[in-house]
Amino acid sequence: MTYVVTDNCIRCKYMDCVEVCPVDCFYEGENMLVIHPDECIDCGVCEPECPAEAIKPDTEPQLDKWLKLNADYATQWPNITVKRDPPADAKDMDGVDGKLEKFFSTAPGQGD
Ligand code: SF4
Ligand code: SF4
Repeated sequence: MTYVVTDNCIRCKYMDCVEVCPVDCFYEGENMLVIHPDECIDCGVCEPECPAEAIKPDTEPQLDKWLKLNADYATQWPNITVKRDPPADAKDMDGVDGKLEKFFSTAPGQGD
């Protein structure tokens, strides 16, 4: 089992999650973060920290595509352990439907 980052992180990217992770397993894309499923120790402390409620345990149904996306991009994007400011329009983007199709970027973020 692992935790995964899902749709509502895209363009919200508040980054409250990264500083609580005891094993530093968050990786940064241009407009979302992912969790490396082989590094996550399933402690669950990040889940309630996410203001966008984007972090879920992979035991919830229908998260297969998100598990794959997290696993794929965790090996391509840089590690992130220190919080920076969220995007200026993060609040406006919170809860918007279909962000994966509309806004997902494969580009890496800047990392630490
Ligand atoms: S706290 Fe939530 S919205 Fe913010 S970067 Fe982490 S997963 Fe994404
Ligand atoms: S569940 Fe724990 S180990 Fe996994 S990403 Fe969240 S804080 Fe890190």
